[in-house]
Amino acid sequence: AIINNEHIEQLKSKANKLAKRALDQHINLAVTGLSRSGKTAFITSFVNQLVAESSQSDMSYFKAINHGRFIAAKRVPQKDLHVPRFDYESAMRALSQTPPAWPEPTKGITQLRLSVKFEPDSSILKYATDTATLNIDITDYPGEWLLDLPMLNQTYEEWSEAMQVLLESSPRHEFAKSFIEKVKQLDPFAPTDENALAELASEYTALLHIFREKLGLSLIQPGRFILPGELENAPILQFVPFINFSDIAFERYQKSNDETMIGMMRARFLEYKERVVKQFYKKHFAHFDRQVILADCLTPLNQGVDSFKDLQQTLALISQSFSYGKSNFLSRLFSPKIDKLLFVATKSDHTTPEQHSNLVSLLNQLVQPIRQQVSFENIQIDTLAIASIKATKAGKSSYRGEDISVIQGCKLADNSTITLFPGEVPAELPNENYWQKNHFNFIAFSPLHSASEVKALPHLRMDQVLEFLIGDKMS
Ligand code: GDP
Repeated sequence: AIINNEHIEQLKSKANKLAKRALDQHINLAVTGLSRSGKTAFITSFVNQLVAESSQSDMSYFKAINHGRFIAAKRVPQKDLHVPRFDYESAMRALSQTPPAWPEPTKGITQLRLSVKFEPDSSILKYATDTATLNIDITDYPGEWLLDLPMLNQTYEEWSEAMQVLLESSPRHEFAKSFIEKVKQLDPFAPTDENALAELASEYTALLHIFREKLGLSLIQPGRFILPGELENAPILQFVPFINFSDIAFERYQKSNDETMIGMMRARFLEYKERVVKQFYKKHFAHFDRQVILADCLTPLNQGVDSFKDLQQTLALISQSFSYGKSNFLSRLFSPKIDKLLFVATKSDHTTPEQHSNLVSLLNQLVQPIRQQVSFENIQIDTLAIASIKATKAGKSSYRGEDISVIQGCKLADNSTITLFPGEVPAELPNENYWQKNHFNFIAFSPLHSASEVKALPHLRMDQVLEFLIGDKMS
């Protein structure tokens, strides 16, 4: 056969297309954390660091940018059209206004797709193609939803008993007394009264909000009660734990159908597990490749021992969703494929720089039991202390003749400038001694003034975040 130039061009173009297909990669990246852990700020910054045209922030750990192989990134229409879009524009608008404001947090699940163009590195394919594309689907969802996982393995009785233990112990008990009384007075076998159930559920939800917002506790079940999304006021969210199982005739309970109060609560509990909890794992969780878990460790250090212990417990609970090798009831739902898990301590610009290594070791300690469980299941785990959007400047200040490390920022409360040493971060899980002597002074700051669409947002270690999460797909 005669091979002429035209043929060669055709072959080249075919090779090019094949190579492109091989190089065009895709990642489903999921971001979670409890509400106010910093998800919205994190995703805004993640996107911004990639799409900002004149990157002025430090990207030295992100090889694709540092080696000059990064070409451009842009937002493109997302994959799942029925999932609300992550509103990057509004977030950037809030940060760019005068005075700048923090973006409105999202309350449910949102998505955003980025398309990143880069020059491949060492690969042989480099000679066949100049550019490759990495598509990243970012999904943001409340960490509270993962706290419902244990419910999948529980009956209504078991769940109620677990909740009762929580409600009857400190610090929840003080606030829960009147609710407990009301449930105790309920005749479980009385005919179903939908209004009474709605009222009880609303009282229980109010309690959960107090636990979360006033006491700073994280272990909130069912998670959708405080973040209902489109399920607000739906009967599926109108049940409560029953308090005195030991006092009722078990056989009668088992036989009661949803025409009785207790039968109806059990029916809704089961429906909640099936339609809400399981559906989330099947529809979304099953498709994630990489997961970021954000934790604000500093607020609990400020709030005290109960809040901190609760964070510890919550991280362990959240992580159960990733140790599917052990709890194989998840593997029965789907075959998981997460290969990288990143734990992030957010808002580290609230501490002076020399405390950052302590913050990482504290996070490592919190994550240690989880690492042991997860590591042999082929998931690569890393921990980082970051600021998605840095709101303070670090410096030195002289105090009683000594140079001390300080941060300076603009107080969110009244926009006045404040310079302070907020306190030490313990490098290990704090003991009694720590709580007696120390207090971490956590002050909410306003974002700095520099944000505008073209400039990159100031940050701490977002480059390391990018390298861990997407660097390998851009080599
Ligand atoms: P979400 O509920 O998980 O989406 O949390 P947000 O992203 O809305 O963050 C909650 C609040 O934490 C924000 O309004 C900020 O006040 C603060 N915050 C989040 N990230 C940072 C950060 O990197 N630095 C500072 N100083 N504050 C932050």
